[in-house]
Amino acid sequence: MREIAIVVPVYREAGNLPLLYTRLKQVTSGLADIRCEYIFVNDGSPDNSLDVLSGIAANDKQVKVIDLSRNFGKEIALTAGVHAAKHVCAVICMDADLQHPPEFIPQLIEEWQKGAEIVATKRISIEKQPLLRKVGSYLYYWLMSKISGLKIVSQTTDFRLYDKKVIEAFCQATERERMFRGIMDWLGFRKVYIEFRADARNEGAAGYSYAKLWSLAVNSITSFSLWPLRITGYLGVVITAVSGGLLIWMLGSYLLGNKAALTPIAIVVVANTFLIGIVLIAIGLVALYIGTIHTEVVNRPLYIVRERINFEEKVGN
Ligand code: UDP
Ligand code: MG
Repeated sequence: MREIAIVVPVYREAGNLPLLYTRLKQVTSGLADIRCEYIFVNDGSPDNSLDVLSGIAANDKQVKVIDLSRNFGKEIALTAGVHAAKHVCAVICMDADLQHPPEFIPQLIEEWQKGAEIVATKRISIEKQPLLRKVGSYLYYWLMSKISGLKIVSQTTDFRLYDKKVIEAFCQATERERMFRGIMDWLGFRKVYIEFRADARNEGAAGYSYAKLWSLAVNSITSFSLWPLRITGYLGVVITAVSGGLLIWMLGSYLLGNKAALTPIAIVVVANTFLIGIVLIAIGLVALYIGTIHTEVVNRPLYIVRERINFEEKVGN
């Protein structure tokens, strides 16, 4: 009998939880040789999600609830759930609003049994998604994969299965500003994608405001790339080169007799631009050092070991 944990972050989902639980039960009771437990992480919901969860947990010992002291955001909620699931063979993460259909769980498990260590899902369509969100998400994925060096596939979701090995590696990551899926992608491991049709949210409104999505996007970009830091330096080099060239041209044509090329105002403007360029280069250099500090401070493990064979006890990385 292999044990799988289903981790669900919950924020303002009181209306969805009973149906989610019923559908989860239906699907997972049909799985052969697999025992499921459900870890619901209540992320400081202001509604009565916690009461609903306690009610379900009172009748079903497989249902575990972690109640966070306040709203920490979905990324941290997922992390808390996964940390509590270290003892199982695999973890499935999914949203509580039924946008991630529980009926796909057997397919996730099948791919895992065939050898995948991460089974990720891609959504084919989303009903009733505002245009701004669609455009924003497209731009975000485009920018992320351009600058982070990671292969970031668009339209993937947090509805995923992770093998025990991935979970163990994930637990070594200590950064605070985290994007759950980004860290999981960074870890590597054998990954398989399957597609599903996303339904509209069952009940309630999406808990992710545009402000939260924006800060998530900024966090993930700054934690996966030093490009925003370096750009100032490059800008400085371009500005210095252009204005330096201009200065030389002005002096040259002045010496060749073109008096109009060297008016006092032109000298001030070009010299000023030149100096701004130098300042930007200096900031860019400082940024390189800050970048190194940044890499140290996020404190990711240097590498990840897939497996240890014949080791009595875990030795350092
Ligand atoms: N969620 C959470 N904390 C938050 C916001 C959302 O735990 O601060 C949960 C929410 O209950 C749901 C999942 O994260 O299970 C996805 O949230 P939502 O449906 O609002 O986002 P979207 O579908 O737009 O990604
Ligand atoms: Mg949703």
